[in-house]
Amino acid sequence: MNTRNLTELYNGYKKTFLSECAECGQCVEHCRVVPFLDRRVDAGGGIGGLRRFLAGGEAGAETKLLADACMRCYGCAGDYCPIGMDKLLLNELYWRENELRTQEKPYSRKQYVFHEERMRRFTSPEEYRRITEPKIVKGAEFVLFPGCNVYRQPEKVLNMLDLMDAVGIPYSFLPGISYCCGQGNRGSRGDTDWSQEAGEKLIGKCLETGARTIVFWCPTCMCHVKYCMERYFPEGLPLRHISFARYLNDHIDKLSFPMAKPQKLTLHEPCKTAYLGIDLEEVRRLLLSVPGTELVEMEHHHENTVCCACRAANSLPETGDRITAARFAEAEATGADKMIDVCHNCHWVFMNYENAGHHTGIGTENYVTFLADACGIHREDTMKIPLDRQD
Ligand code: SF4
Ligand code: SF4
Repeated sequence: MNTRNLTELYNGYKKTFLSECAECGQCVEHCRVVPFLDRRVDAGGGIGGLRRFLAGGEAGAETKLLADACMRCYGCAGDYCPIGMDKLLLNELYWRENELRTQEKPYSRKQYVFHEERMRRFTSPEEYRRITEPKIVKGAEFVLFPGCNVYRQPEKVLNMLDLMDAVGIPYSFLPGISYCCGQGNRGSRGDTDWSQEAGEKLIGKCLETGARTIVFWCPTCMCHVKYCMERYFPEGLPLRHISFARYLNDHIDKLSFPMAKPQKLTLHEPCKTAYLGIDLEEVRRLLLSVPGTELVEMEHHHENTVCCACRAANSLPETGDRITAARFAEAEATGADKMIDVCHNCHWVFMNYENAGHHTGIGTENYVTFLADACGIHREDTMKIPLDRQD
């Protein structure tokens, strides 16, 4: 594999930022979370503080706030910055510096304890093996990779596998948890060596299966390929990559929907793929393939969509709740019977908001659950299991 060194690239970005940034503030203005913050943040505080921090000083409250509030929505990606930066890249430099100073190496600790606990709780031993063991089918064109984070909702991985089986084309399977795209510069505290190592391990294993196409379930993996992996794979990934939704659309003639019923739906698409212009129509096409489906759009959709709150929901819960409430209000205003989400993490954020007792006015369901149901594959959504049945 022909790769460049990601850490060296980031060292170069840091050098450019320190020597050339004019503190014009455009990157802060492009940040989608700023309007939802409790306080006004100005470029001098936010960006000037980051420059001081990267030069060896202290960061300051505004810089930390901007980094903490980041939803990793990719809404600030673009070519507006005169020196080729964007706010997300600056946040990554912040977390990377933080990691270098504290010498924290979170990924050397045992990972995915919570995922493991929920997988054990919500799967039978046979299902557990099915979603955690690689399946290599020699000669198969496709390899399915669900990503790691969806394992907190293991029924979605099982639904994916059942839908792949219903399509009937042989495929290999690489489990998340064992493999990772390497996204998580924030979660890994910006450990670029770890990120590149994880990404190369995944792609190397895919090539080893003999597959020519990797099918990603996770929108974050798709974005990570475009935003980060293509930095260290300068010629692009050495195999084709498509989303799970696109795979199903390409083989929709092999699926039938005997349990479909008339429903009016509205779609909350993953903001990150929408902002990066990836797969804007794939899930819409899929939903409309199910007989009886009517689709109505919310006020914000396609490239103009908004985030569910994502990471902000964890690091700044009050800000996160404001963002999630705004999204539910838009969905309710469409008059749809239900909202469909695409990314398991949006589903996680929405369901946690609902499970905390907030009024939403409309329910939400993940598209893989919706499709599986329409095909006659029924599994309970683990996010909807009452808390007294979760033990
Ligand atoms: S947009 Fe670019 S030049 Fe302007 S403050 Fe941000 S990093 Fe600096
Ligand atoms: S990824 Fe989203 S929240 Fe994070 S800095 Fe960019 S626009 Fe702001």
